[in-house]
Amino acid sequence: MKNIKRDKILVAGLGALIILMVVFLFKTVTMELPSAEANNFKSKVIQTKDSKKTQNKEVVNTITTEAISPEVTPATTEIPVVSVEANSSPTAKVAGIKAYTLKEIEAAGTNILINKHFMLPMNYKTKNLVSLKGVMPLQLSYLQIIKVAFNPLVEMNRAAKADGVKLIAANAWRSYATQKRGFNVKVNEYLAKHKSRAEAEKLASRVVAPPNASEHQTGFAIDIVSTKYATRDEGFALTAAGKWLAKNSWKYGFILRYQQAKTQITEIIYEPWHFRYIGKEIAKKIYDQKICLEEYLKNAHS
Ligand SMILES: [Zn+2]
Repeated sequence: MKNIKRDKILVAGLGALIILMVVFLFKTVTMELPSAEANNFKSKVIQTKDSKKTQNKEVVNTITTEAISPEVTPATTEIPVVSVEANSSPTAKVAGIKAYTLKEIEAAGTNILINKHFMLPMNYKTKNLVSLKGVMPLQLSYLQIIKVAFNPLVEMNRAAKADGVKLIAANAWRSYATQKRGFNVKVNEYLAKHKSRAEAEKLASRVVAPPNASEHQTGFAIDIVSTKYATRDEGFALTAAGKWLAKNSWKYGFILRYQQAKTQITEIIYEPWHFRYIGKEIAKKIYDQKICLEEYLKNAHS
């Protein structure tokens, strides 16, 4: 009897030891696997128990991975929609700056004018952005453009390719924070050259639009260069791609927004790489009449 009891205890002990070893082994294996594989491995294990739970887990994993990109606003942290009060700050009124209301932005649609005098309201959240992945090579993997400009861009890229021009997207939609950062970098460059704050800001604003004054925040703008010339400077205008874009972009609804002959009006340096979607009809008029957007809208309203 005593022996049987001892055997039972032994068997129970051995069983417990085996369970512990299995648990330890499982943990070690999943820890050593690279995270993606580990998730897969775990998912497979869970799948045998509850396939629905696994599916949910995979969806969550996908969202987390995609939210890493700094320009993509995760769905969970929606910026509250701007209030009209925020648009009309006393400073804006004094300086003669117009900050659009959301209603005005909606009404303007693709025709919206954005510059240092007609700005986006604070906390403006660009809607309908789509990824540029797969359309053309990108200098930054997370680039996005407004949906309405997506197909025209695809068309334009295809046409350029057919003509032997390989385009690259250097930049597209930018958030307020990114725009602010870029502007501040430029301001600091001028401050380092012993310019006053006011002077530095004025000079910087000709190169990088201040936050809320940039077309890039609307999603309608895209900076395009090429595989042969990947820097955004005036030299791009002399390349095959720069020439092709200047000559053909209007056919797809894009305008060369900051022309060499119009810097006095646009208050922005010549940017042969910056294209703005406005639709085929207006793009053709602007191209044919050799005017800039400011002039076109002024004529249209007078
Ligand atoms: Zn640009």
